[in-house]
Amino acid sequence: MEGELTSSWLYRVAAANLVKLEELLSGLLELYPEVHSCSNICLDYGIAPAWIRALAIWCRLAESRIHKLDLARVFPGRHLNWFVHGNGAPSSGRNSGGRSVWWLAFIFCPRCLDQQIKDGLPIHRRAEWTLAFLTHCPQHQDEPLRHYCLCCHREEPRWVVAPKGKDEEVQCRHCGTALSHWPRGTIDRFSPPLQLTLRLESTILRSLSGQAPDPFWVGNVDADTFANLVSDLFLLLAEPDRQGVLALADHLGGEDWWDKHRLGYGVVTTVASLQHWASRLKMVASVAKCLLGERSLQFFRFRGPRCVGQRDLYPFAILFRELPVDHHEELIRRAMRWPDPLADQILRVLKR
Ligand SMILES: [Zn+2]
Ligand SMILES: [Zn+2]
Repeated sequence: MEGELTSSWLYRVAAANLVKLEELLSGLLELYPEVHSCSNICLDYGIAPAWIRALAIWCRLAESRIHKLDLARVFPGRHLNWFVHGNGAPSSGRNSGGRSVWWLAFIFCPRCLDQQIKDGLPIHRRAEWTLAFLTHCPQHQDEPLRHYCLCCHREEPRWVVAPKGKDEEVQCRHCGTALSHWPRGTIDRFSPPLQLTLRLESTILRSLSGQAPDPFWVGNVDADTFANLVSDLFLLLAEPDRQGVLALADHLGGEDWWDKHRLGYGVVTTVASLQHWASRLKMVASVAKCLLGERSLQFFRFRGPRCVGQRDLYPFAILFRELPVDHHEELIRRAMRWPDPLADQILRVLKR
């Protein structure tokens, strides 16, 4: 299906043949020895040509149709770290036939799945759901994207479609609970910081398809400049702090948006937990704080007694304080390429 992830398509192929994806892949490795020479294969991103060829022959499809699903094609020029891949990272390795073959985190919007049933489509996962900055479904903005079953908390719930009254519903294969049983309010009832954060998510998503961002964020810049800036900030905010315990984003206040809307639990943003949407939400909120600087304090609560008197240096004064000293130079070097409002902020922090 167009817009589907390669791993989602292969899940469907496996299910149609009554096997698991891992079994399907072992079968492929046995049949096509030439794919053995490729190691560390991510099915969804930058898959090797030998793999595409083998899959095309095996599934009797044109190579171009498989190639089209590849995230490196769908979002050209975007590094793998734009996508949620904590679960399948090569180091923790899922192994198939002794080779490291893995795929991106199994992330889904339960309401889109229901819609797919109503539209008579096969249940599948959309490519954009794996974008790391996207914490809520772009179609259903009030619905967090999830990677686990809310009832049994198992990851990769591998759905089954079961009848429910006159209709059908998508259920978790492990515990049989419907995946969408968590209705929430509409986005205009969300707190201002949460609305702002979700607004940033849609701006980033649109910038990936070439649409220039609202000048509200950092003035008039083109889509690519904006996307690269956001990418720099994500990498920075996901870095471990001086103690090597928390991510830098945690130092910009973690609880400020869920006081009115209990979105989840006080998830701590260690780099390993970045798969959880609530951790990623904190990360996107921190990007918003960096982009807006002092203006962000109109939306987010100002925290941290040690920064009293430094409102005009928020949030980079805090980031410089928490970032290991030997990383300062790299941050300054990058920042000098950022749009003026941000580069100026960094210079002001350095002057104090
Ligand atoms: Zn949705
Ligand atoms: Zn379950």
